[in-house]
Amino acid sequence: ASRRPAQANSESATVAGVVISHPERVLFADTGLTKLDLARYYEAVAAHLLPQLRDRPLSLVRCPRGPAHPCFFQKHLDEGMPASLTAVTVQQQDGPARYMAANRLEALIGLVQLGVVELHTWNARRDRLDRPDKLILDLDPAPDVAWRQVQEGAMLIRSLLQELGLACFLKVTGGKGLHVEVPLYRYHDWATVKQFSERVARHLAALIPRRFTANMAKAQRKGRIFIDYLRNAEGATAVSAFSVRARPGAPVAVPISWEELAEGVRSDQFGIEATLQRLRDQSADPWADYDSQRARLTKAMLARLGPG
Ligand code: ATP
Ligand code: MN
Ligand code: MN
Repeated sequence: ASRRPAQANSESATVAGVVISHPERVLFADTGLTKLDLARYYEAVAAHLLPQLRDRPLSLVRCPRGPAHPCFFQKHLDEGMPASLTAVTVQQQDGPARYMAANRLEALIGLVQLGVVELHTWNARRDRLDRPDKLILDLDPAPDVAWRQVQEGAMLIRSLLQELGLACFLKVTGGKGLHVEVPLYRYHDWATVKQFSERVARHLAALIPRRFTANMAKAQRKGRIFIDYLRNAEGATAVSAFSVRARPGAPVAVPISWEELAEGVRSDQFGIEATLQRLRDQSADPWADYDSQRARLTKAMLARLGPG
């Protein structure tokens, strides 16, 4: 074993006190992004990312050799995971299961050390796993849908939600679409939130069938935006704001304002550098009002969405 300090050792490096093995391993061949670069990105963005992750059960995308090689999803806490993770016990039909939350910087960097690239979270936090605190409409455009149509689709959804009295916030996924998030008080159970989101999706698909579908079937999606309301089922996850995506170019999921959407911001336009630059330059956080805009879903709103 080397006697040199880890920082000076070419075999490993240290980020936030966590030893990163294979720091020079290139994970994203197109950008040259290494495992150490990824750990340093997550350290730099932690002040913004950790509040998003706090107390939420995680689903991780692990790509130990980068996204061009096999990746796998992991949601259970098992042996060999960092002790700095927070264990979350989820009561399932077949008994309790151990999930994990990343509440500390060491936990976050410990995950990168294990090859984690993407961090996905539940819509609920560990002290009330039965009460989601947000509703997510995941806009999935078919490959033949122009970005212009995705922009307009998101704005139509916002208008509907606003008419119902619900504030909503936007993030680019780093992939093909957008997530529209409605912050909720932790009042409703999963079934209520999922039913509501399905009603929103079906209402829009009935109103404007040329643009939207609420049907997952591929044939129904051609030329349309699939409003994926299934992100609101218990145990479902969505990519966290500020997570890197395991896709070419290492795009990042980023909160944006509705003005930026109108100005033409696209889903995969923020890489790691652009995201960090944006956080340095940004005068206003597009999600600044997220917590103060929490709402309840009411019977009156459901009635206005028409018969399910
Ligand atoms: P895009 O904008 O390209 O659609 P996305 O993150 O929304 O990016 P989706 O395929 O729409 O990607 O998936 C939405 C969410 O559903 C993901 O962020 C992820 O949390 C979850 N998800 C998707 N596929 C799986 C899977 N195979 N296993 C577990 N969770 C998944
Ligand atoms: Mn999506
Ligand atoms: Mn989806």
